[in-house]
Amino acid sequence: MERPDVLIAGGGTAALCAALAARRRGASVLLLEAAPRALRGGNTRHSRNLRLMHLAPTAYSPGVYSAEEFRADLERASGEAARSALSERLIVGSNGLDDWLRDQGVVFQPTASGLLPESRKTLFLLGGGKAMLNALYRAAEHAGVVIRYGHRVSALQLKARRLHAVRIQAAGQRLTLHPRALIACTGGAQANRRWLRQHWGAAAAGFLNRGTPEADGRLLAALRHAGAQLIGDPGAAYLVAVDARSPRDDGGIATRIRAMPAGIVVDASGRRFHDEGADSASTRYAAWGQRLAACPGQIAWLILDDSAQRAAPPALYPPLSAPTPEALGTQLGINGAQLAATLAHYNAAVRPPADASDAQGWHTEGLEPPKSRQARALDTPPYHAWPMRPGLTFTYQGVAVDEHARVRLRDGSSAPDLFAAGMILLPNILPRGYVSGLGLTIGAVFGRLAGEEAARHVLG
Ligand SMILES: Cc1cc2nc3c(=O)[nH]c(=O)nc-3n(C[C@H](O)[C@H](O)[C@H](O)COP(=O)(O)OP(=O)(O)OC[C@H]3O[C@@H](n4cnc5c(N)ncnc54)[C@H](O)[C@@H]3O)c2cc1C
Repeated sequence: MERPDVLIAGGGTAALCAALAARRRGASVLLLEAAPRALRGGNTRHSRNLRLMHLAPTAYSPGVYSAEEFRADLERASGEAARSALSERLIVGSNGLDDWLRDQGVVFQPTASGLLPESRKTLFLLGGGKAMLNALYRAAEHAGVVIRYGHRVSALQLKARRLHAVRIQAAGQRLTLHPRALIACTGGAQANRRWLRQHWGAAAAGFLNRGTPEADGRLLAALRHAGAQLIGDPGAAYLVAVDARSPRDDGGIATRIRAMPAGIVVDASGRRFHDEGADSASTRYAAWGQRLAACPGQIAWLILDDSAQRAAPPALYPPLSAPTPEALGTQLGINGAQLAATLAHYNAAVRPPADASDAQGWHTEGLEPPKSRQARALDTPPYHAWPMRPGLTFTYQGVAVDEHARVRLRDGSSAPDLFAAGMILLPNILPRGYVSGLGLTIGAVFGRLAGEEAARHVLG
């Protein structure tokens, strides 16, 4: 297809929703996914729930989740910056999105199955992101979308603010296409080690990427080169605590470390550096990701005794274990005597709650930093450790778009035939912070919008 009506760069939620929306409006659509078929679908493969406004209970989500509450959640994550016309589009567009996705063959997890905790604000995908992707790819193929794997969009050229040419790399070859419209759905730049080094310095070497290795930010750079306005902090990233033994890319959700409140966290000096009981469940992962990024060598260890380890949530890798704190420290490559002293000071500072019925109210006294909640003594051998590093989920630089998902140019105009959808436009809605399930919703809502707008542009 030398001159498709709509060319789509990417192969995740945003790309597929854009492709389906444009095709169903009658446009010819070519979708180029950089990954091979077996690894198609970007970070969408790792995800599991979407955030949807709904004004009545459904089989997949109890209660209601109003526009006001959705808006308040966005503002809690990102402050006033989250109040925009695009956020409103997101909220309104999420209402009924489940019906549209079901029409494309996507299956949700019924609440009645009891397999996952009930969630009023998000819907879980039956079989996770991969199952959704399989359904969307199947629907796109049936609808007549032409799909090419291993095709990376690498550059583009505008002439008089209009799309002129798109350059593609595939199997060592360079191709040039002249589509009538392009939709950029290529996500962030979290897999680009050079980009990370540029913004985080030497610390970047200690980061692991939880998601796709294809997220190299190449199209984002090409958009900037062609005159697009970039927005968002290029040095900001959503980081969570992951097992340091995880793969460098694509470790996914299973690599998270979650049991910080059950133990203590020490850095390479064998000392504690933060209150492990301070965070709420919803902020814990992201807060520890940033703390690990600030640690020497970007590594720290969660230390548990045997009782705490038995009660900890399951993790991908077993912990490292030793009969004494000294031996554990030696195994971790940190000073064993210091680790033993840290544990002894901590155990001596543990106090019961004032109210005996408050099981989480155990805390420390006279310890710096304190442990304000869930501070049980850690004195039952053997002792266990999980090594932790910051795990990248996404970066916060993207391309500015208008209310029609058209890319804004640096001269203040919108390119009529250049669109964006998904995480590549995240900072238009959330310049910082995050709320669960939002990534897929941004992908699906703006994918649909961009697909419809692109088709309208080319078909009139
Ligand atoms: C471990 C993990 C768990 C997550 N869990 C959730 C969750 O439960 N709920 C949620 O809402 N969000 C979750 N997210 C975030 C979510 O995955 C993303 O927000 C979502 O996938 C974004 O969709 P997208 O289409 O914009 O990007 P992606 O799904 O990442 O797709 C980007 C696509 O672009 C392709 N690509 C990249 N560069 C090029 C190029 N130059 N040319 C052609 N193709 C290219 C990639 O191969 C990929 O197919 C999670 C992320 C991770 C890493």
